[in-house]
Amino acid sequence: MCGIVGYVGSEDAAEFLIDGLRRLEYRGYDSAGVAIVCEDDIAVTRSVGRIQSLADRLGTPPPGTLGLGHTRWATHGPATEENAHPHIGGDGEVVLVHNGVIENYQILKDGLIEKGYHFKSATDSEVIAHLVAEGLSNTPAIEDQPHARYVTAVQWAIAQLRGTYGLAIVFRDKPGFMIAARFGSPLVIGVGRGEYFVASDASPIAGRTDRIVYLADHQLAVLTADGFSVLHRDSGKVRVNIQPLEADSGEVSMNGYDHYMLKEIYEQPDALRNAMRGRLNDQDATAVFGGLNLTPQQLRGVERIILTGCGTSWHSALVGEYMIEELARIPVCVEYASELRYRNPPIENNTLVFGITQSGETADTLAALNETKRKGHRTLAICNVVGSSIAQASDGGVYLHAGPEIGVASTKAFTSQCCVLAMLALYFGRMRHMSFETGGRIIEDLRRLPATIEQALTCDAEVRRVAEKYQSATNVLYLGRRYNFPTALEGALKLKEISYIHAEGYPAAEMKHGPIALVDADTPSIFIMPRGTTYDKVLSNMEEVKARGGPVIAIASSDDTEIRKIADDVIMIPEAPEFLQPIVSVIPLQLLSYHIAVLRGCDVDKPRNLAKSVTVE
Ligand code: GLU
Repeated sequence: MCGIVGYVGSEDAAEFLIDGLRRLEYRGYDSAGVAIVCEDDIAVTRSVGRIQSLADRLGTPPPGTLGLGHTRWATHGPATEENAHPHIGGDGEVVLVHNGVIENYQILKDGLIEKGYHFKSATDSEVIAHLVAEGLSNTPAIEDQPHARYVTAVQWAIAQLRGTYGLAIVFRDKPGFMIAARFGSPLVIGVGRGEYFVASDASPIAGRTDRIVYLADHQLAVLTADGFSVLHRDSGKVRVNIQPLEADSGEVSMNGYDHYMLKEIYEQPDALRNAMRGRLNDQDATAVFGGLNLTPQQLRGVERIILTGCGTSWHSALVGEYMIEELARIPVCVEYASELRYRNPPIENNTLVFGITQSGETADTLAALNETKRKGHRTLAICNVVGSSIAQASDGGVYLHAGPEIGVASTKAFTSQCCVLAMLALYFGRMRHMSFETGGRIIEDLRRLPATIEQALTCDAEVRRVAEKYQSATNVLYLGRRYNFPTALEGALKLKEISYIHAEGYPAAEMKHGPIALVDADTPSIFIMPRGTTYDKVLSNMEEVKARGGPVIAIASSDDTEIRKIADDVIMIPEAPEFLQPIVSVIPLQLLSYHIAVLRGCDVDKPRNLAKSVTVE
């Protein structure tokens, strides 16, 4: 969610700041700003809306080799220029940007107002700026330790914060010097030669340097053009692990597509190949994973699996539940991470908890994993972003290797997550009852999947035609059973997210227990019904909707010629075994929401109110 960039070095800061903010645009934001430290002043520029309007307002940026930038996703106070970051503390001696939420801001604000501080914004973040200024006013300079006063003031301020923060702070009276701090909101340091970068993820830094430090919670980084050091908030200097950063981690080009979402939809065959690369073992007819960090004995002892996540990742967890229970016969329960973190359910011994997340930064998923880990359960992550907070916090995990997903509406991360879950189901299954022969067949099914998705993508033109027909609907029902029930939920979510049409996903048979009341001539129902166990049952559900005058659209197997006689519109998808059907049948649903959103003039890659990486509760 939102983003931070910072630069200290010998080049003009503005160029990196603006370019870095553009690379963070995908995370979702509503306003932006930069601060550039000049001779004896700090020039702050803010603007509502896109980075381009900030760049326009900045014009020829002031010269300065130290600066901060921010994209804001408003949590406290509307998206206005006054609430945009950077925020100024005291009389201008402190300027900072903040990602996260300060839960006790009101009490701190009241105290600061009593002391005479004036607030110009409605944000929780401005509290931190004044608090650091107050810290400075209480801290004398220490001879021979030019940074100590500033570090102490920041330590004093952040010790009072309850909530989450990624912070980058500069000081009017200490040019050439920056402090970054993190708790619960990601922050990385790019280590260059004679220059250092701060950012909320690696994308602004990739290509600028190949060395990166992932700050951990409670750490503070002190940066000048000559070097940097990392301290623990309370206990002094810590040794940092400088890790390599690949130059293409920031690759964000659209490759000729009109939108990132469309590009990412079309990248799915390759994303699936990458998810499977090196993970299928023919000799043992199983899957192999390098990073689970658990012995086969520990994995063999697993008696229950909890899959937890939010949004689309919660849907892939539901797919995983069907896969693992069917192929590995291990009981699975799927939990919303936001519920799991506070619900305090009884969890048996030998339970394995998987957090599923594209960004690896989802605050609720991180908290749910931390809570279950604290209770002594093993936690693993299924995530896309290498080095992310959740990747670091869990005991081990599986990376998707799907490449950066920029479109706010997740597509390739969903199918890659389902693919990883299918491989895990194979792996756990082969540790138990599953025969060599069945394992081998599943490997073949998985190997065929990328080509099947390529074929599924050829429905694009037909989907576009259907999109034209139904673009003005105000309600849409998505119905499916078994493996295609989660697909129905995911299809409905995609439509809501980017075209702002109300949509509901339901198990098809549940429809008659309520949602069928919504059916009328203007409410299309989309039935996800490739051939399989419940095909005939879903067909009957379709007839029930038709009988009530509702338009019906079928997502059906390519050899299903009969369905054309019943459904108003049919989108054909290629054959796949039932456990892989959700990965195939979601393709037309992704495309449908894409085309409808484009036809309705919606901003596909940056839908209103949404953020890519949800780092707040
Ligand atoms: N809570 C802060 C605000 O509303 C920061 C939000 C963000 O992380 O962008 O300004």
